[in-house]
Amino acid sequence: ATVKDWTAHVIKQAEIDKYLVDGKDFIDEEKIFEEIEKGKKPDKQRVRDILQKSLEIKILTPDETATLLNVEDPELFHEMQEAALEVKKRVYDNRIVFFAPLYLSNLCVNSCKYCGFRAENKEEIRHVLSMDEVREETAAVIDEGHKRMIAVYGEHPMNGADYIAESISTIYSVKRETPTGNGFNNIRRVNVNAAPMEIADLKKLWRAGIGTFQVFQETYHRERYAELHPANTVKGNYRWRLYAMHRAMEAGIDDVAIGALFGLYDWKFEVMGLLHHALDLERQFGIGPHTVSFPRMQPAPGSFLSENSPYLVSNDAMRRVVAVLRLAIPYSGLIVTAREEPNLKRDLLTHFGCTQTDASSKLGIGAYAKKLKQEENIEKVQFMLGDQRSLDEVIRELANDGMITSFCTAGYRCGRTGDKIMTLLEKGVEGKFCKLNAVLTFREYLNDYASPATREIGEKLIEQELREIEATPFFSKNKLLPTFRSYYDRIARGERDLYM
Ligand code: SAM
Ligand code: SF4
Repeated sequence: ATVKDWTAHVIKQAEIDKYLVDGKDFIDEEKIFEEIEKGKKPDKQRVRDILQKSLEIKILTPDETATLLNVEDPELFHEMQEAALEVKKRVYDNRIVFFAPLYLSNLCVNSCKYCGFRAENKEEIRHVLSMDEVREETAAVIDEGHKRMIAVYGEHPMNGADYIAESISTIYSVKRETPTGNGFNNIRRVNVNAAPMEIADLKKLWRAGIGTFQVFQETYHRERYAELHPANTVKGNYRWRLYAMHRAMEAGIDDVAIGALFGLYDWKFEVMGLLHHALDLERQFGIGPHTVSFPRMQPAPGSFLSENSPYLVSNDAMRRVVAVLRLAIPYSGLIVTAREEPNLKRDLLTHFGCTQTDASSKLGIGAYAKKLKQEENIEKVQFMLGDQRSLDEVIRELANDGMITSFCTAGYRCGRTGDKIMTLLEKGVEGKFCKLNAVLTFREYLNDYASPATREIGEKLIEQELREIEATPFFSKNKLLPTFRSYYDRIARGERDLYM
């Protein structure tokens, strides 16, 4: 397809309208403004009652969420933060899941005002990775110690669904010998962040073994959306994007990920947008989002929006965003990326309820294999990262804070996805399996890739985890201990990829 054909034909109106409820979209701006207004000056007892509901791992209503968004009193906010941490502990304990982004193509037909890949940025050098290059990039990512990847693509006929499906299969096919020479490591879960697609195309990704499908709405506010995404582009269609996840669910991809780009519009409004999105997915499919993201706008080549937007979000507001999301959608993973600087990132992970992050990330097309720093290939990056530390360094920092790194991909390979995983998460059962798999994958990392300093602190942490596992009644009651112990020993001896 030519770019013109693509833009004209990619959107299927019927695959938007079928998800209307009573003839309406699930985002109603006026209603959201009313909800936010109504939540102002919240009563202390009401806030405490809402926190209690979150602690039962129940999704909050829009009114309840708006109430939490309006908490200004520092003491009450402190209670909120503690409750958010407790929710995280109940559902995810002290685990942080790591992933690496892989950018495969910066060709794009759209012109989003905040993005280095936008078609009108003539400084950008465009490239689509060949499958050989995908293999080289993947090998370099595996050699850092990663097991989970998010593949990222601009929107262009050169990298449509067939290319994405082929690249997913290619990433899965790469095997790297472990540094000890005992076995092989590979990428065990490929998530995708790409443009919204029609159901038939999403089925291609599902057949290729996609993990989570992720699309950010950018802003849920229609008017602001229209200012930032030119109307004659595919992305200019707000509603095609709004139902991207509904279509994904229909195509069989039941792990879906939503997000908003913070800094484009009022942050309270965006949190409400995310909540309404989660509620509509629950209403129409019985499953909420697997993860929620709140990327904050960063400087991008040739774009000045990250300095000039009237809606820039402070670090303090980001902490509130995370605390409220943790409480409002208690079962969803919360992702903070290397967009953020090390201190804030650490704070959001250890004190505010984030559950996933990336490290050693490179956004330039082809930058992993060539080991390029972002300053060295600025003409191929989408935006600038705030944290360029290695995976090892970030793992060490979190281990020092008592957080264990997990590369677990078992849930999805054991069929624990979608509504099944939601129920298990709500009941705290999935968390139990995750604990075992976190320890198994952390063992692999310590043996294969950890620096001496990380190994030292990591061994102490893993000893503590092993003691906890032995003392947890759930594991002995369900006869999981013998299998776990034998997997742990086999991994320590060099076998790889054993999971429960
Ligand atoms: N092209 C597809 C799309 O727009 O949906 C998928 C990939 S796009 C490369 C991934 C995400 O990067 C976008 O959805 C947007 O939220 C985010 N992004 C774009 N420009 C950014 C910037 N300057 N700072 C931070 N995040 C940005
Ligand atoms: Fe293209 Fe996505 Fe960047 Fe928009 S955000 S210009 S669609 S790559």
